Amino acid sequence: MSCGVIVMPDKRLLLHICCAPDATIPVEDLQAEGWQVAGFFYGSNIQPEEEYRLRLDALHILAGHTSLPVEEAPYAPEGWLDHMARLELLEEPEGGRRCTACFELQLRAAAESAVRLGCPYLCTSLTISPHKDVGRINAIGESIAKAHGLTWRPRIWRKRDGFLRSLRRSRELGLYRQNYCGCAPSQRGTAE
Ligand code: SF4
Repeated sequence: MSCGVIVMPDKRLLLHICCAPDATIPVEDLQAEGWQVAGFFYGSNIQPEEEYRLRLDALHILAGHTSLPVEEAPYAPEGWLDHMARLELLEEPEGGRRCTACFELQLRAAAESAVRLGCPYLCTSLTISPHKDVGRINAIGESIAKAHGLTWRPRIWRKRDGFLRSLRRSRELGLYRQNYCGCAPSQRGTAE
C-alpha cells in the first residue's frame, strides 16, 4: 500500500488510529483540510482477540466510507504483554506509566509505517478521548516523529466538541464502539 500519488508529497500524512470511532473526525477533518491521509492500526494492545476483530471490522467500515488506505500491524498481543510484564507495568492504574509505554509502542510502530510509506507527517487519533492526557501523547509523538525524521502534527481532536462529533458520526456509520480502552487490565478496570 502507498499513500497515493495525486496530492503534493508534502501533504502526505500517516494517522495512527487507536480505534475507528476515535478516528472518524480526524480522518474526515484532515481530508477536508487537503491532507493525503493513510491510516495505521497497531491493535496488539487489544484483548481478547474477538474484541480486536470487532474493532478491526469497524475500521474497515470507516476506511470504506472515507477511501482511507490503512496499514494494519500483525496482531501480536503476547509481544505487548511481554513488554509490559518486563517493565512491571501490568498492575499500573489506567492512565499511568503503562499507558505511556503503550503510547510509545503504538506511535513508534506508526512512525515506522510512515517511513515505509513515504509519509513525512505523523498524527494520532488518540487525542479525541476525554480520558487521555493529550500533553503526554503529543510530547511522545513529537519525540518519536523527530527520531524517525518525521514532522509531528500535534492535534487535540477533542477540542470543538470533537468527541461528541465522533460519537454522532460513529452512530451514523454503524461503527462498533467499545466500552474499555483495549488491554486486559483496562477491561478489568476503568471503562473507557
Ligand atoms: S489502558 Fe489503553 S492506553 Fe493504557 S495500556 Fe491499556 S490499552 Fe494502552
